[in-house]
Amino acid sequence: MAKKILGVLVVVGILIGSLVWLLSREDQLIDESAGAKKKLGVVTTTTMVTDMVKMVGGERISVSGLMGPGVDPHSYQVTFRDTAALRGADLIFYSGHHLEGKMQEVLEKRAKKHGGVFAVTDGIVQTSLLMPEEEFQGYYDPHVWGDPKLWAECIKVVVNALSQADPSGAEDYQQRAEDYHKELLALDQWVQTRIAEIPVSQRVLVTSHDAFHYLGQAYGIQVKGLQGISTNSESGLKDRAELVAFIKRRQLKTIFPESSVNAKGIKAVAAEAGVKVSEHELFSDAMGDPGEIVQLHGESYDKGSYIGMIKHNVNTVVDGLK
Ligand SMILES: [Zn+2]
Repeated sequence: MAKKILGVLVVVGILIGSLVWLLSREDQLIDESAGAKKKLGVVTTTTMVTDMVKMVGGERISVSGLMGPGVDPHSYQVTFRDTAALRGADLIFYSGHHLEGKMQEVLEKRAKKHGGVFAVTDGIVQTSLLMPEEEFQGYYDPHVWGDPKLWAECIKVVVNALSQADPSGAEDYQQRAEDYHKELLALDQWVQTRIAEIPVSQRVLVTSHDAFHYLGQAYGIQVKGLQGISTNSESGLKDRAELVAFIKRRQLKTIFPESSVNAKGIKAVAAEAGVKVSEHELFSDAMGDPGEIVQLHGESYDKGSYIGMIKHNVNTVVDGLK
């Protein structure tokens, strides 16, 4: 009898032990999946903003950029997929100052309702912003990334928002932000050195739309766009005739098409003015394809990164004008 009781007790003991082991294992599995879910889900708009957020967030966040290479943010329409992505995001970063034309309204609505929405260009003091010569509905010129020093000012918006949403990563975000800031200041030095190679009288940039005024202001280049600040406006015959006369007067060698704007207009101007259209498109409102590595003048860069995009643009301009 005693043996029987002992046998039952052993069996019950084994059962309880197994149950405890199973439960603890399940706890562990839940913990692990919760750990994986802890990555902040971040949604971004333009490729430049996507790149900055990835640089600061590193492995701690998962970033989904809505606008790919070659996409024009001025005329961008929000898709059903975008709406779902925006709804599921922990944080949203966009460029701002009405670059994202119609989308800005959607983003502002979401910001009011749920918070967690940030315009990176809010990091720039208003006195550094340019008011376009041509009316842009009273808004500032949004193409601030043309000047790496100004773009670097936007990093703090990203690092602050990420740190607030994920305090345990704050130190990591801060370190990565500082490193990126340094890289952008070094890029500024690089651009200055290259632009100095163009004769002063030839420091004129004629492109498809007015996206390069910040670049022009930072490095002493006169800038003329065929279309205005937004690609939504059409260029008139008068604009075209004036631009042709200007190009002839300044005896420019090359004018430049843009990756996110149809080149038809700028090609027509070049034909009338008798100048070359650069064989390389400038990246104005979107970067190139990630992983497209360029080797030029003894260095290499990725046209799908912000730094690579600026280097590509500046090399194209300098080699076309000097
Ligand atoms: Zn633009």
